[in-house]
Amino acid sequence: MSRSSAVPGRVRGAGGFLTIDLDAVAANYRTLGTRLGPACECGAVVKADAYGLGLAPVARTLWDAGCRRFFVALTEEGIALRFLLPEARIYVFDGVDQDTTADTAAHRLIPVLSHPGQIETWATYARTQRTRLPALLQMETGMNRLGLSTGEAETLVSDAADIGALELDGAMSHLACADEPEHPQNAQQLDNFRNALAILSPLGLAAASLANSSGIFLDPAFHFDLARPGAALWGINPQPAGPNPMGQVVKLQGKILQTRTIDTPSAVGYGATHRVRRGARIATIGIGYADGFFRSLSNSASAFIGGIRVPVVGRVSMDLITIDVSAVPAEAAQAGDLVDLISPEHPVDDLAREAGTIGYEVLTALGRRFERRYLGGGTGS
Ligand SMILES: *Cc1c(COP(=O)(O)O)cnc(C)c1O
Repeated sequence: MSRSSAVPGRVRGAGGFLTIDLDAVAANYRTLGTRLGPACECGAVVKADAYGLGLAPVARTLWDAGCRRFFVALTEEGIALRFLLPEARIYVFDGVDQDTTADTAAHRLIPVLSHPGQIETWATYARTQRTRLPALLQMETGMNRLGLSTGEAETLVSDAADIGALELDGAMSHLACADEPEHPQNAQQLDNFRNALAILSPLGLAAASLANSSGIFLDPAFHFDLARPGAALWGINPQPAGPNPMGQVVKLQGKILQTRTIDTPSAVGYGATHRVRRGARIATIGIGYADGFFRSLSNSASAFIGGIRVPVVGRVSMDLITIDVSAVPAEAAQAGDLVDLISPEHPVDDLAREAGTIGYEVLTALGRRFERRYLGGGTGS
């Protein structure tokens, strides 16, 4: 059953409509599961409000699709998710510090511990509570971001005191170049991760996790026990050099506020960066950089009306963009009509390329001023 609903109580007049297809999210989750095979569980990364798509509807959809392990970046995100999914296993990438131990424990979050200080903080808190607390260890394997070095892992294994206070769920690491399958760093990180698991083996860890979305499309040796996709679930191509195996989730449409026909050759927008000829038709849309339609899309983004390409011309303003709609019949581009900015013919990855960025940044920057509609998923919300 597919249905569409706007955010309740929202006053109309939004400059854009963001449609999120929850059935496509569920289908993408199943596609990834097929790719992983039965030996590897598929989790989901829903940090940053599910990459800007809305934590509540997206997380409920994934739960209904069978996902039981979720990853967020912040304690606060984990708490929000706990209220939505009382039974889920929720991992917090940023781990814990003195300020978050009590909340982390109270909401049954599983911190990802990435350095000895964090392990000590969490183990000390567990001892004061006279309980054992769950954790996932993060190993540094080549990204130099978060994670224990092999030396720190060796020390940990020999230090029974801290380990005894924790219920270690497993170990993870993160790939830096998984979207480039031929990159030599992939094999290097795989080796380093295996080496780290060997060092940690006396701890009898339950699960190992290495693959993000792109890692799922590498050799099955990268899969281990638990995968952590985010981007691919929302339709971002996990292997940009090839065709996109994922279904499209996001549609962004802007509303035309005004259309004008140019009667004298002149310029459009701030800085007069685009010249228009006599007879050209320019439509102005109520979306701008304050909505996450990056200013770097000035004179470079494509939009579509009825499948016909109409380019963004001139600079992106805070709340407005201008589009040359000369290619479509005048009656197809009138005030109130919609223009497709992210759509099947112009997926999020294409818009990202035009902005000089990646789909991840486009999605997480999507503004709060759009009228949001969720399709399918059975949640409506
Ligand atoms: C964000 C993140 C993921 C998800 O990555 P995608 O490329 O979106 O699939 C997985 N693991 C870690 C540690 C992350 O920070």
